[in-house]
Amino acid sequence: MPIDSATKPPTVTQATLVKKARETLAYKPADVSPQRRVQRRYTMRRWSVRHARFLEWVYARFSRFFLLLHPFWKAVGYARAEAPVKFIERHMKGLMFDCRMCGQCILSSTGMSCPMNCPKQLRNGPCGGVRSNGNCEVEPDMPCVWVKAWEGAQAMRGGQTIFDVQKPVDQSLRESSAWLRVTAQAARTRDAERSHTE
Ligand code: SF4
Repeated sequence: MPIDSATKPPTVTQATLVKKARETLAYKPADVSPQRRVQRRYTMRRWSVRHARFLEWVYARFSRFFLLLHPFWKAVGYARAEAPVKFIERHMKGLMFDCRMCGQCILSSTGMSCPMNCPKQLRNGPCGGVRSNGNCEVEPDMPCVWVKAWEGAQAMRGGQTIFDVQKPVDQSLRESSAWLRVTAQAARTRDAERSHTE
């Protein structure tokens, strides 16, 4: 019996899949309306860079606290903790840094200026198109994230890490919690060191 075209399931073509993937991965400006972006003037982002030293201090304590909770994460299961922790991380870092949830946070090495807000997503310094006023060539009303990163790094104790060469973004880590990943990694390193000295 011929299948009625109305009841036939829609075929997913490769073009549709590519389009979907592009929509997820494509750079999206910090706000949908350019007008609102200008009005907002990246207030929180600028504040975070101005207070990079303080945030560095806070993060050092916060990461230690998260590591202390390792037995709890382990008991609950890192995978199960992922959703609630990611929710908090997304909202906190979204507010303060316009975080894009790349899952491999390098704020400590970029003066608390999130490099994923660079329209070219450069993680190792600015492109050659920074405007004379220090703004981005793609988004003229936005301060270049790397100009800000340099400013923030000057204020930080560990500011020299801005010279570290960063790996390319691992897209498979997108939308995952960097906090949990770093904690799990730190716990593994700590346990390995302990077993080495015993
Ligand atoms: S580096 Fe990644 S995880 Fe860190 S604030 Fe930027 S997008 Fe978020």
